Amino acid sequence: MNSRIETASRAPAPGASRVGPKHVLGLFLVLLAAAPLVLPDFYVTLLNYIGLSALVALGLVLLTGVGGLTSFGQAAFVGLGAYTTAWLTTSQELPGWLAAIGSSPWLALIAGLVLTALVAIILGSVTLKLSGHFLPLGTMAWGISLYFLFGNMEFLGGHGGLSGIPALKLFGFELIENRHYYYLVWAFVLLGLFTTRNLLDSREGRAIRALKGGMVMAEAMGVDTSRARMVIFVIAALQACAAGWLYAHLQRFVNPTPFGLHIGIEYLFMAVVGGAGQVWGALVGAGVITVLKQWLQDILPKVFGSAGNFEVIVFGVMMVIVLQRARDGLWPLLAKIVPVREAPRVIDASAQPLDKKPQPPMGEMILEAKNVTRKFGGLVANNNMSLSVKAGEILALIGPNGAGKSTMFNQLSGVDTPTSGEVLFRGKPVAGHQSREIAGLGMSRTFQHVRLLPKMTVLENVAIGAHLRGSKGVLPAAWRLDRVEEARLMREAAIQVERVGLGEFMHTEAGSLALGQQRILEIARALCSDPCLLLLDEPAAGLRFKEKQALTELLRRLKSEGMAVLIVEHDMDFVMSLVDRVVVMEFGEKIAEGLPEEIQKDPAVLEAYLGGV
Ligand code: ADP
Ligand code: MG
Repeated sequence: MNSRIETASRAPAPGASRVGPKHVLGLFLVLLAAAPLVLPDFYVTLLNYIGLSALVALGLVLLTGVGGLTSFGQAAFVGLGAYTTAWLTTSQELPGWLAAIGSSPWLALIAGLVLTALVAIILGSVTLKLSGHFLPLGTMAWGISLYFLFGNMEFLGGHGGLSGIPALKLFGFELIENRHYYYLVWAFVLLGLFTTRNLLDSREGRAIRALKGGMVMAEAMGVDTSRARMVIFVIAALQACAAGWLYAHLQRFVNPTPFGLHIGIEYLFMAVVGGAGQVWGALVGAGVITVLKQWLQDILPKVFGSAGNFEVIVFGVMMVIVLQRARDGLWPLLAKIVPVREAPRVIDASAQPLDKKPQPPMGEMILEAKNVTRKFGGLVANNNMSLSVKAGEILALIGPNGAGKSTMFNQLSGVDTPTSGEVLFRGKPVAGHQSREIAGLGMSRTFQHVRLLPKMTVLENVAIGAHLRGSKGVLPAAWRLDRVEEARLMREAAIQVERVGLGEFMHTEAGSLALGQQRILEIARALCSDPCLLLLDEPAAGLRFKEKQALTELLRRLKSEGMAVLIVEHDMDFVMSLVDRVVVMEFGEKIAEGLPEEIQKDPAVLEAYLGGV
């Protein structure tokens, strides 16, 4: 069976000059549709189980591979889907309305999905807050709990389980034979693949892809990362639930065994082996592991001469090897064999421009920090710092390394909370507010230590900046109903990429840019949010002379349009020729403030900069 998947991917005919993803997908679909017509029943059954597992693994690709949240507990959600329909469709003594639901497995599916969503939201709100290894441990805990719940509930048949689950009917046709059921299973899998892929390629999808390793950045761009985590957690649970429902009506019998922790680990294993960052990885992983398990279960007892679950040991060893040798799983290796090139995204120049907020009038007070203090234990990183920036003004914040400039940026932008003091942004107090809320008010920033998503293109990275300028959510994205808005967002992102001079790298992976260019990318991303205040933390570091000139020009233009800019920079030629005023910090405190020419002559500043040399 896994050879089928490989053939599908390796499809290109020799001599074909250019094989697009559409051709490979087409061939895969043809093979998929033809399989039950030509294969013996044993293999069709195997394909059914691969499909069920792929559906669960797909959820894990989203949750773990893309979102970075490891769950060992997905099998419990499969159980929830299976037991809900089993109980509703077999129980004789249900009250009227439940009996009505139980009269149709399709209604029972909806009931299962609703129940699963509720359980996932409750479990998610407890466990998703946990960080590091506590989250996986949390998922194990509820994985085990639900398993024992299934086994110990009298009305769920205890460890003996529930039997007599009715066959599914579709348009009056009973799906009893494996080769008929096959089409239903794979329709679900394809639907899952289609919607997940669509979701990942959308505004919400970019936010989800930022969860792994880009949370601070995403929040600063206006993304609600807690919500995004919950969204993928619920989606993964729903996919598992649907697989459970399919399983129950395929087996026509359920007991707790297939919903235990060790099966939960197996699902995770499928996602990892297949390539957890890629939706197709779920399919490859489910195929490889299901076939391998089947084969090992046949062969190992013969080798060892006694019965036992020896495959578990082999899986354990395999997991270690994969994690050490092929972190990204098998899919990237397969994808290399297939000469498929995703065409770069088309930017629709005729898409309607995004709405722009009116810029505040020149000279209006934009940002005022008053007596901001931030202590880290005994260290006072910011002490009584005050500064202000007006519309159309560029203010430089300078000072030796460790003076507290980046810390100050974090206090201003909501990445951190001051110990005391006040920050007014456009007259509103914002100290200690969430950075996404401040972003929504029109402040945008770059980071001294570049924070971008290296595997995403320059264009997609910049588009994250426009998050708050779109509104289409998960469902429209999954069904491609967000394309008008998406075209507008992409057009805006492309404009900003061009504006900062990175046009030739539009479709390049951001991680492959030089560090200086990555900083410039961050400026484009910040501009994409339509801000009235830009905070730039060492934007010119790593830039060549010409690039610095271009940056100076860009910032002058922004200033003339009424943008307020606060900039931390070490290159004094760059700073002094560009900015209107300078604030100098040392040891967390302001030691001078004034015009560039005043600052250059200030004895305290000369002492701070030259005294230490
Ligand atoms: P600058 O940007 O001016 O070079 P920073 O603001 O990065 O300086 O750092 C100022 C001081 O605060 C440094 O001594 C740094 O070690 C300390 N600091 C910054 N962030 C933290 C933190 N999260 N926890 C503890 N100390 C910190
Ligand atoms: Mg710094």
